[in-house]
Amino acid sequence: MPLPRVSIIGAGLAGVEAAHVLAARGLCVDLFEMRPAVTTPAHRTDLFAELVCSNSFKGTDPLTAHGILKAEMEMLGSMVLSVAHATRVPAGKALAVDRSAFAASVTSRIMALQTVTLHRGEVTAIDPDRLTIVATGPLTSNALARHIASITGSNRLFFYDAIAPIIEASSIDMDHAFTGSRWSPADPDYLNCPLNREEYERFTAQLLAADRLRAREFEDARFFEACLPIEVLASRGIDALRYGPMRPVGLIDPKTGRRPYAVVQLRRENLRGDACTPVGFQTRLTYPEQKRVFSLIPALRDARYLRYGSIHRNTYLDAPRVLEKDLRLKGSGSTYVAGQLTGVEGYMESAATGIVAGLSVLARIRGERFVPPGPETAIGALIHHITDPSIEPFQPMNTNFGIMPIPDAPKKERAAMRSRNARDAFEQWAGSVAGGLALPVRMRNGENGGMRSDR
Ligand SMILES: Cc1cc2nc3c(=O)[nH]c(=O)nc-3n(C[C@H](O)[C@H](O)[C@H](O)COP(=O)(O)OP(=O)(O)OC[C@H]3O[C@@H](n4cnc5c(N)ncnc54)[C@H](O)[C@@H]3O)c2cc1C
Repeated sequence: MPLPRVSIIGAGLAGVEAAHVLAARGLCVDLFEMRPAVTTPAHRTDLFAELVCSNSFKGTDPLTAHGILKAEMEMLGSMVLSVAHATRVPAGKALAVDRSAFAASVTSRIMALQTVTLHRGEVTAIDPDRLTIVATGPLTSNALARHIASITGSNRLFFYDAIAPIIEASSIDMDHAFTGSRWSPADPDYLNCPLNREEYERFTAQLLAADRLRAREFEDARFFEACLPIEVLASRGIDALRYGPMRPVGLIDPKTGRRPYAVVQLRRENLRGDACTPVGFQTRLTYPEQKRVFSLIPALRDARYLRYGSIHRNTYLDAPRVLEKDLRLKGSGSTYVAGQLTGVEGYMESAATGIVAGLSVLARIRGERFVPPGPETAIGALIHHITDPSIEPFQPMNTNFGIMPIPDAPKKERAAMRSRNARDAFEQWAGSVAGGLALPVRMRNGENGGMRSDR
């Protein structure tokens, strides 16, 4: 029986990785890309994998979550990573690229794959009878977004991201914090960081003076009315925060026996309680300014950030409710999702889910069940996080140690142990799953591509 053709919608970071995984193993891929006929508000070229903002893929240190993610992608033969190394520009410890050379090289490598057929034009609906990977990204075209919402339910597709920072719980100074939710002091789910009047006024003044990122012209200002950045709220008057996200109502500080002047409430981000988020602290402050200004909250003086806050246009699914662990859309036989649309956040994270979706479709074609790598690994942690039904409400997530299990080791040794555990678990998984899925690649120039030949 002939092997089925696979449709991939979107030739961004995720789409090209998925196309590479499949075509490199001899499968026929129809790759649909709407640019240049229809474009997004952020893309400028018709090239594949165009980087719409920063040219950095972040660090490579194997003792960091980003370094571990890259090591895993490399083991899977990531094309994006390989091109990134080939087009690298000096940027200290970060892997940064010449963005034009990067996108041009990705485009030519994909076009060199014999079994990829490119279709330029907007896709407005998914054919349920074809194996399809939807990788249309944070700026998915309106028509297709409407169609996806009609499949998942409109309350399962979001269009904006208003992200508050995530803080490592162990870095919070408990001498300046207390647990309890409003009116329920015994509730352990919230941590409260009180401020006296002087501290509150200093915090508000610095918040207003801090450097912030400007909204892009396509990022609709109406959004901010629905979910205001904390610094915009603060500009509405000295008491605006005290009557908004920093209101102390229903909270008594056990150290003073009184209601504080203002409070920052932190909500647990995960069941383990080792990461938490200041409620209502979505922000457009630059990252260094978030660290500086939030350190004026006494309990957060030495806070370590697993992720900084941000607000931007982003189309993404309520993945824990609509995606299976193999990245298939629940209830659909043959539609898979990859990239930022799955609720991961970041270039490399998007590319990694493209590889996973490609391998998942490959397993499906071979009649096998696809099991993602375990949560000790960077890729597995992302997949488990975005498909964890206990996470509600769901917000996009980047790679970080907060979503990986804490190793049983003294604090100083944890990074090294996490890195080792991740490598061992990933190698075991890759050996049992990915190795068996490799088929020879055919390049247009007649070379035998092999799994690693175009690296
Ligand atoms: C403005 C902005 C800035 C960002 N900056 C950064 C950053 O600095 N660093 C970082 O790590 N991450 C950043 N991100 C987040 C994210 O990592 C990138 O958007 C990343 O490119 C996502 O990869 P992707 O493959 O999911 O989507 P994309 O790379 O956007 O690829 C999706 C592709 O699908 C195409 N497409 C869309 N709709 C259709 C359709 N209906 N039919 C056919 N084709 C379609 C698009 O033209 C595009 O080529 C940013 C996101 C946005 C929106």
